[in-house]
Amino acid sequence: MSVNAVVNEMTKEQQKEQESLNLFYSTQTVIQKALAKLGYQNEMFDLLKEPLRLLTVRIPVRMDDGSVKVFTGYRSQHNDAVGPTKGGVRFHPEVNEEEVKALSIWMSLKCGITNLPYGGGKGGIICDPRKMSFRELERLSRGYVRAISQIVGPTKDIPAPDVYTNSQIMAWMMDEYSRLREFDSPGFITGKPIVLGGSQGRETATARGVTICIEEAVKKKGIELQGARVVIQGFGNAGSYLAKFMHDAGAKVIAVSDVYGGVHDPNGLDIDYLLDRRDSFGTFSQLFKETITNKELLELECDILVPAAISNQITAENAANIKAAIVVEAANGPTTLEATNILTERGVLLVPDILASAGGVTVSYFEWVQNNQGYYWTEEEVAEKLKKVMVDSFEKIYRTAQEYQVDMRLAAYMTGIRKMAEAAQFRGWV
Ligand code: GLU
Repeated sequence: MSVNAVVNEMTKEQQKEQESLNLFYSTQTVIQKALAKLGYQNEMFDLLKEPLRLLTVRIPVRMDDGSVKVFTGYRSQHNDAVGPTKGGVRFHPEVNEEEVKALSIWMSLKCGITNLPYGGGKGGIICDPRKMSFRELERLSRGYVRAISQIVGPTKDIPAPDVYTNSQIMAWMMDEYSRLREFDSPGFITGKPIVLGGSQGRETATARGVTICIEEAVKKKGIELQGARVVIQGFGNAGSYLAKFMHDAGAKVIAVSDVYGGVHDPNGLDIDYLLDRRDSFGTFSQLFKETITNKELLELECDILVPAAISNQITAENAANIKAAIVVEAANGPTTLEATNILTERGVLLVPDILASAGGVTVSYFEWVQNNQGYYWTEEEVAEKLKKVMVDSFEKIYRTAQEYQVDMRLAAYMTGIRKMAEAAQFRGWV
């Protein structure tokens, strides 16, 4: 590797860390505002502004070529005043401490909004699963569970899938935990395969939750979903299923993208074809000669825009160019705070990430309940219960925004942090 390449590499990592730090600070800023609006003193902010616990682990893994590689992983537990902590584990080269911390706080907010009996947690391993074999991934997943086993468990902290982790990885993790404890522990982790105690509907839950938010948002805006033009950035678990659900609902999905770029057709895309051709990391655009950039995609003429990829996509630079009447954040942190202000002032209805993406953890909660009682529900039961949670959560936040005359993001934070603050007070922590 040339010196320049090394410098570029470092700059990219540093940039990402800076971005995560900004994400973390902006989360703290909104939490502070939310607590102040709810009438809490600074002590409450002091308690909730940082995770209670952050564990950093080093995981040695025997690679297929016989060498040993040591990976760094994290588990952050924001606050357990309400109950055990809950949240996914991501496998990604750009995982870092600040990001994991911010994401664990967001999990607290999501659980607060949906009224689940959990606090927030999040984990991550710095690795690139796209460059690892099946067996290497298994050894890494098992190693991670051994490394964090003391602080997790069905009544302590319950992991789940997140970016680049899936039901197979959850199965290995559950198996490792059960072996360590020497009893069957399906409630240790959610997002498992159905045969191992996974819930019906968990795989599609995030996209279902986003769909329900879109259904509620169009009602508020007086837009007909049938025929509405939808643009989706990202074609991973959330983006791809969402494209399908929108298509099935009669909306016109006119553009979708992956990390490399997107495809656009004002008459509507052939979603089934794209679903069929996408790989397990959600990429498909390399099959096409004519693509648009992710930047262009965000600024397309449309009714509903769904950023379902990565953070910091709608910023002060492009917020004024967004044409959509409704922006639904399926990704974590796709819109900066400045951009939130610009969109709100322009009358765009923004459905914030901590509400829009809460369907995943809601069905994870259903999975955990089913595991604990050993009694399993049908897909219809899960869908019906999810619908109720999402509609109630949307309404609660919409009403809070109106009542306090605040934007939807601040209203979501107020709704999300309230229960945790109350619980901490009852416990006598503050
Ligand atoms: N990783 C998902 C999220 O960020 C799901 C978490 C869970 O199911 O616990 O919401």
